[in-house]
This record gives sequence, structure tokens and C-alpha cells, in this order.
Amino acid sequence: MKILITGGSGFIGSYLAEYLLKSGHYVVILDNLSTGRLANIKNIYRHKNLEVHIDTIFNRDLMDELVKGCDQIYHLAAAVGVRFIVDNPVQTIETNVGGSEVLLKIANKYKKKILIASTSEVYGKSDELPFKEDAMRVYGPTTIRRWSYAESKAIDEFLALAYLHEKKLPVVIARLFNTVGPRQSGQYGMVVPRFVQQALLDHPITVYGDGKQSRCFGYVGDIVEAIVKLMDNEKCIGQIYNIGTSEEITIYDLAKKVKELTNSKSQIKLIPYEEAYEEGFEDMQRRIPDLSKAGRDINYKPKVSLTRILQEIIEYYKK
Ligand code: UDP
Repeated sequence: MKILITGGSGFIGSYLAEYLLKSGHYVVILDNLSTGRLANIKNIYRHKNLEVHIDTIFNRDLMDELVKGCDQIYHLAAAVGVRFIVDNPVQTIETNVGGSEVLLKIANKYKKKILIASTSEVYGKSDELPFKEDAMRVYGPTTIRRWSYAESKAIDEFLALAYLHEKKLPVVIARLFNTVGPRQSGQYGMVVPRFVQQALLDHPITVYGDGKQSRCFGYVGDIVEAIVKLMDNEKCIGQIYNIGTSEEITIYDLAKKVKELTNSKSQIKLIPYEEAYEEGFEDMQRRIPDLSKAGRDINYKPKVSLTRILQEIIEYYKK
């Protein structure tokens, strides 16, 4: 098959591209390198079944040509990372809403199956844990820029489902929970690569807030396998799936674990949210996926533990 990945030079996109190439597919990457990097795809760059377009999703002529020529689309191109979103709210909203709008319209023109990479952020600060796909979404005020990410991704979900309902476009939605692994950059806010780099340099490990907030960190390889299964299963059309892991850790304990695994001399430093992000910043206290739907429909079960993931990331940064 010929498969288009928007955001294919991003962290998750690059692993997906490798996986699909290994499975024998022809892969077309579209990426504007806003947060993606060519270094992410350096191992596959010269693969005979890979085509890379460094361009924007707003180039409608190019998108028309790429979508027309492919069999499936993974839509991963988006503004991501809490740091990036707080600093670039216009780009966040325009890319995440407008970019998906362009792509869905063209996907519908040629009736190409499309997987939308959504996010656990859409649950917002709901405390109905673990999050089920049909749960309530709870957001803060529009003056807090971080919420623009959740809103923009929720609009993508609405639009994709609207295309299915009105136009019979085959769509599937994956709500990705915190996904980590080698190659992820800490530059846009993501905590795990930041802590690992800080620890390896014996710099202070910067825990925001009181560190009692928790997350579940899934391995990028597990996540990629899952989204391919979602795409390839007819049963998943029109459905939303949580994809991640339910192994929970507080951010303070994560800092301790990273310090331990790296034998670091770093101090663990608490930094108020206002200083780290923006005035009035709101964080999610806990974020745990209910994975039973993905378990039932695609037999999904995360395989890699947090300790193993951290060891792999530490090795990557040491090199
Ligand atoms: N965080 C932190 N120090 C950092 C970066 C992030 O304590 O240097 C915290 C952040 O406030 C959040 C958690 O780590 O509570 C996860 O942050 P990330 O941006 O990786 O993901 P998300 O907030 O989207 O879950």
C-alpha cells in the first residue's frame, strides 16, 4: 500500500514511517519541520520506498496530489508540546484546526481512509478516572492558552466524525496518552526527555508545581503498533480509542527514578507553574486511560515498562 503520514518527521511519525516501511509499504511523508526534524528520519531517508515532502499541509495542490495517490492517511501533523502551545497559540489553533480541515476535505474528495491522531488532553481536567472514550471533557477558561490545544484537537475529532456521518468518509480516532521514547525532544515541554537530559548533565531536575500530579507514559513502539491496528481494522471505523498505558507515576517520583537510573548528582527543584508556563496555568492532576476498548477491538496491551523505556532513552542521550 501507499501510505501518507502528515507529520512523518515528528517523533511518533518517524517511528510509524519505519514500522510501515518494515511491513513492506510505500510511505509518503509530509512535514513542515516546525517541530519535526530530518534527524528523526535519518535511518530511513534513503529507503527506496520512502518519499519525503518538506512542505505545509496548507499547500492544497500538493495535498491533493498526495492524497489522491495514496491508499491510507495517518494525520499526525499538529502543533504539540505544552511549552510550544503556550508560546505559539496562533500557530497551534491554525495548524490543528485549519490543517485538519484542509486534509479532511481532500481525503473526502478521494474517499481515502484517515486516522486522526488526537490526544488525552481532550479529557481536560476531568477527574472521572480512568478516562473512558465517552467521558465528559472539562476545560478551563479561554484566557489560559494551554486549553487551545485540547479544544483544537476536539474540533478535529468533531470534524472527522462529521465527515463520517454526513459523507461516509472512513475515519478512526486515536487519543494518544503521554508517549515517550528515544528521539523525543524536550524542547517543546515534554517532561521525560527534559528530566533525562537534566539528570545526565547533573543540572537541576525541574519539577513543575508540587510534583504530585501524575501521568502514564507509554512506549512509542507500542503506540505505533496500536495505531496501525486501528487503521487496518474495519471494526474501528467511526470509533475513538484511548492508546497509552495505565502504569501511573507522579512527576516527583519520575524525577527520582530518572536521577536513580542515571546515577545523577542533580538536585530535584520545584518550580511554580506560573514561572514555568503562564500566569494562571492549570495542570491535570491525574491522567489515566481506560484501555478496555482498544483491548477488546484490537487486542491492545502495552508491552514495555516505564523502567525499560527510561533505560532506552538514557542510552540514547548518552550516545
Ligand atoms: N513537567 C515538569 N517539568 C518539566 C516539564 C514538565 O514537571 O520540565 C510536568 C508538567 O507540568 C506535567 C507533566 O510534567 O505535569 C507532564 O508534562 P508534559 O508536558 O510532558 O505532558 P502533559 O502535560 O501534556 O501531560
